[in-house]
Amino acid sequence: MIKRAYNFSAGPSALPLEVLEKAQKELVNFRGTGMSIMEMSHRGATFENIHNEAISRMRKLFSIPDQYEVLFLQGGASLQFSMIPMNLLKEGQQAGYIMTGSWSEKAFKEAKLFGEPYQIATTKENKYRNIPTFEDIQFNSEDAYIHLTSNNTIYGTQWHSFPDTGEIPLIVDMSSDIMSKPIDVSKFGMIYAGAQKNLGPSGVTVVIVRKDLLEKANTEIPTMLKYSTHAENNSLYNTPPTFGIYMLGEVLNWIEEKGGLEAIAKHNEEKAKVIYDTIDNSNGFYVGHATTESRSLMNITFRVTDEELEKQFLTEVKEAGFVGLNGHRSVGGCRASTYNAVPFEACKALSDFMIEFQRKHS
Ligand code: PMP
Repeated sequence: MIKRAYNFSAGPSALPLEVLEKAQKELVNFRGTGMSIMEMSHRGATFENIHNEAISRMRKLFSIPDQYEVLFLQGGASLQFSMIPMNLLKEGQQAGYIMTGSWSEKAFKEAKLFGEPYQIATTKENKYRNIPTFEDIQFNSEDAYIHLTSNNTIYGTQWHSFPDTGEIPLIVDMSSDIMSKPIDVSKFGMIYAGAQKNLGPSGVTVVIVRKDLLEKANTEIPTMLKYSTHAENNSLYNTPPTFGIYMLGEVLNWIEEKGGLEAIAKHNEEKAKVIYDTIDNSNGFYVGHATTESRSLMNITFRVTDEELEKQFLTEVKEAGFVGLNGHRSVGGCRASTYNAVPFEACKALSDFMIEFQRKHS
């Protein structure tokens, strides 16, 4: 048995061991071709099958209706911050941004280069500890779209239900919780995510976009930055990140084998619960960053109340074989990212470690 780290990294993050082992087995001689998947043409039948299968698995698992395109792009979720307004915001037109953390801020900053975005609601004054309430979400009926970040990787907050934006497309950055649970895709104009948390290695960005939005999109923009270019070419306009797409397809296969998104969601709830319960039962030794109702099931942010002990905690937890528990540099503290591929045993081991650490130091 290989000794695997208890990997709580925020992204890139843990991948399913079964997927890594399969990729290892197939690495130098992909299914009898005498080549690695990385060494063959993206125009050949072997890769095209992998590519199309990954798209259809995604459609099936995530129940994506036919009127949506599924695109595999590059440039990370960060390039989407620019591509969205570049394609979907006309000069002088407004778009509403709901601000729940640094990634929303970055998305908003890019939109200012193309149109007139405005902030609908922000929880910055509360250190982004919570998601705004629906009453705080007031927007204009003429808006090109409304943008929000479904899971705030840095602050550890998550939208557990989404506002109804009616006719106005809701565009959501789901980088850190995509496919962690079933959702109704038809409620969204567009969903996007970097793959490197729940879906595979970094290098692939998934975009799920309603076709009618592409028909209305701006045309005077660079070819590579137009969604329609990629939609018209089945995401094979230029050389795609072939290995990443192969891995993404295998991760989707793994999700399917685990019982699909319902089963994954249940598993994710159990994993997060064991850690949140530890925080809540610690009599203030540990304290969560997010307010209870806004807590993320993907990124659990917390502090050890005593600052000196917190340093010691982070040192000792690392020595004990846990990886990636330092909070983001902008907020400090601790963060356990419990994405789809992080096993329950790792979360239980972390909880046990936290309980023991508290027992020793109080
Ligand atoms: N949005 C969210 C919610 C994220 O967590 C991240 C990355 N951590 C990004 C956007 C940026 O993604 P990328 O690095 O793929 O550009």
